[in-house]
Amino acid sequence: MSDSLVNSDKKPRLAPSRFSDVSQAAPIPVFALTAAFKEDKNPVKYNLGVGAYRTDENEPWVLPVVKDVEKQMANDETLNHEYLPVMGLGDFTTAATKLLLGEDSPAILENRAFGVQTLSGTGALRLGLEFLIEHCKCTAAYASDPTWGNHNNIFNKLKYPNVRKYRYWHAGTKGLDIDGMLEDLENAPEDALIMLHACAHNPTGVDPTQEQWKKIAEVMMRKKLFPFFDCAYTGFATGDLERDRWAVTYFVSLGMEIFASMSFAKNFGLYNERVGNLVVVVNNTDTKNPIISQMTRTVRVMWSNPPNHGARIVSTVLNNPTLYAQWKDHIKTMATRIFEMRQALYQRLQTLGTPGTWNHIVDQIGMFSYTGLGPNQVDFLRSKHHVYIMKSGRVNMCAITTSNVDYIAKAIHEAVSTVCEDPKL
Ligand code: PLP
Repeated sequence: MSDSLVNSDKKPRLAPSRFSDVSQAAPIPVFALTAAFKEDKNPVKYNLGVGAYRTDENEPWVLPVVKDVEKQMANDETLNHEYLPVMGLGDFTTAATKLLLGEDSPAILENRAFGVQTLSGTGALRLGLEFLIEHCKCTAAYASDPTWGNHNNIFNKLKYPNVRKYRYWHAGTKGLDIDGMLEDLENAPEDALIMLHACAHNPTGVDPTQEQWKKIAEVMMRKKLFPFFDCAYTGFATGDLERDRWAVTYFVSLGMEIFASMSFAKNFGLYNERVGNLVVVVNNTDTKNPIISQMTRTVRVMWSNPPNHGARIVSTVLNNPTLYAQWKDHIKTMATRIFEMRQALYQRLQTLGTPGTWNHIVDQIGMFSYTGLGPNQVDFLRSKHHVYIMKSGRVNMCAITTSNVDYIAKAIHEAVSTVCEDPKL
């Protein structure tokens, strides 16, 4: 190497980096919380932040039916690692779409629905939103206040116009602000996209009742708003598939066109396999092929072809009545454990006489509870008791177990009894 290219120690002389101007991005809150938790040297500490199921032993759970199918797949000489079609494994997308809409859905019977395999729920949101901004009229995009952070991240990444919030959480009642929500929908411009959480709203755990969904659908139909259902917890929320998909099936029964993103991370415990399905329901079957052709091109430049392993597991289970019945038991097991932990925490807080009302803990559903704890109380829980929860007061109920619920309840009791918060929160 010529002398001009090396330093005196003979190591190459490095040119100034072209990356020097890259600024540090803000950390992703939930991962920052986990990093802080890992660094905490205290022997007793609990992370109630991360959104994944845990057993009562505080361990991840590989669903037994998933384990069985994986063993079967490992011994199946007919399987290989060839590319899947760009739109995904047909047996998977068909079964997944039926799972969400119901076999007897008018959209299925009239051949007005299809699915596209995606990289989990996030990939389905991304693909659906990218398609809509490129090919459809969209005057504004609304997500609930609060919502799962990635909704707004994707809206902004795709440069959606008029990204707005509709009212959702009512701090006073610790429940749904249905009047505020309906008023905001009423005032939304025609052709606005409305992101809806089909069940187990993240982060609040508060869902509309069926009567409230009917009112939401009525406004949305009348105002020609487009529903995009985020279905990350189907079956996992209550253990009852029909109940968890009710809002979606109701909108479809009214003849509305919808998009719905499905995730199999939570309900199959397949977090890192990235199994998702984007469900598209249209009113004119002639539009199906053009939509598929455009989505094919979008997928081609994003991930090109979807991964096989997780989709094959889900497809095998959904297409086999015996395995399907086992899986339905598993979702009940998970939903029941979460429900029991809600009850346990609620009872402990009642017994301790913790100031305030706590019935929202048992009224909310799904993995998360929006506790109503304020940021100062959240900081106190962390610094004094090594209990880590999101700044918003969101708690992952799955991280609560029969062995830690007393500790956590006492910590919350002390936080609420001794740390002041802004009453408006
Ligand atoms: N939507 C909501 C509301 C979620 O809570 C999640 C996961 O936490 C997702 C979508 C998508 O998750 P994934 O991309 O892991 O399927």
